[in-house]
Amino acid sequence: MFIIKYIKGPDDCEWYTIDNTHVQKFRKVVKKIFDLDIHKDEGLWFSNVDFCLENEIPVKKFVQKPGDIVYTNSGTLHWVRSKGIAVNSSWNVALKNVEVFQEMYRKLEINKTIAFPTIVPIRLLTLELLKKEYQKLQNDFFDLCYEKLKFFVQEEEDEKKKAKMKFIREPENSSVFFCDGCHEEIFLYWVHCENPNCLNKFNCYFCVKCCKSHERVCNSSQFQGYKKYDDFEIQDLIFELEEFKENQRKLTEKKENKMVDKKENKVIEKKKSKEINKKELKILEKKENKVIEKIENKKQNDEEKYKIKKKQIDTDMEPNNLMEHMIAVSKILHVKKDETKMETENILSALISSTNK
Ligand SMILES: [Zn+2]
Ligand SMILES: [Zn+2]
Repeated sequence: MFIIKYIKGPDDCEWYTIDNTHVQKFRKVVKKIFDLDIHKDEGLWFSNVDFCLENEIPVKKFVQKPGDIVYTNSGTLHWVRSKGIAVNSSWNVALKNVEVFQEMYRKLEINKTIAFPTIVPIRLLTLELLKKEYQKLQNDFFDLCYEKLKFFVQEEEDEKKKAKMKFIREPENSSVFFCDGCHEEIFLYWVHCENPNCLNKFNCYFCVKCCKSHERVCNSSQFQGYKKYDDFEIQDLIFELEEFKENQRKLTEKKENKMVDKKENKVIEKKKSKEINKKELKILEKKENKVIEKIENKKQNDEEKYKIKKKQIDTDMEPNNLMEHMIAVSKILHVKKDETKMETENILSALISSTNK
């Protein structure tokens, strides 16, 4: 439960808070040193910062000034002191979510172990919430409330069986919500002492558990049992909730299957695209190979052509052939045959000596 506290003043208030996660440690330390249960003896203790720090418990201290609003988280332990005269207004606020309800159920269990009454009628709240809004709740929130409701109903039915009395529908607009014996919340059943000489007279509304102890005090067993709901209302509701839960489960399963299918499809698609890529790669490789082959062929052809040409040139350059060429040229140029021969021999010897070098 959240707490909203507004201060009107005129004086300030001093706050000390311990976060939810350290409350049980603080409780143990206080119990060990002072033999005091902070939950059971609420309002009977006041700790200070030094005590918390000595025991390694993180604590926050701050001052609330007139006009300030303090908002505490669910489960935060706090103690407040006025530094003079101050008027405060505070509200306990429960948000409809799984964390807040978890915290309230946890506190209920603690209170049960120390027989301390819980202010919030959490059992009725759970029942009414599920009755009116179960379709709107988140899955985890619904599951938590539904499991708790089944437990609360079972607990109450067990007590009712032990009481061995008849229960009739409570009068309309009845406002019996807390037991006058244990001050716990009245859930499904309550008992009224109808003894005209009852000692309690104005405080005769009990939970099923407490009517036995009242019987001894009042020395009477003139009880009338009442029920807040007709039996079929609770049974129908549980049936409806169970059906809803089953449908939710199927729906979640379907969704999960769909997700798995989607994932599988994605994997298949990926595989396919990989295969396509492989094929494309192969085609590309083939094309590339062809191009390389072509280039190789061309290279070979060119080399062969070059060889043929070179051979031709080499043949042309052989001394006799060269001579003939020169003679042919000299004929064309009308140069004397002997001169040409001499000249050619000179050129040739020059060529041979240069190649030898
Ligand atoms: Zn009681
Ligand atoms: Zn009585």
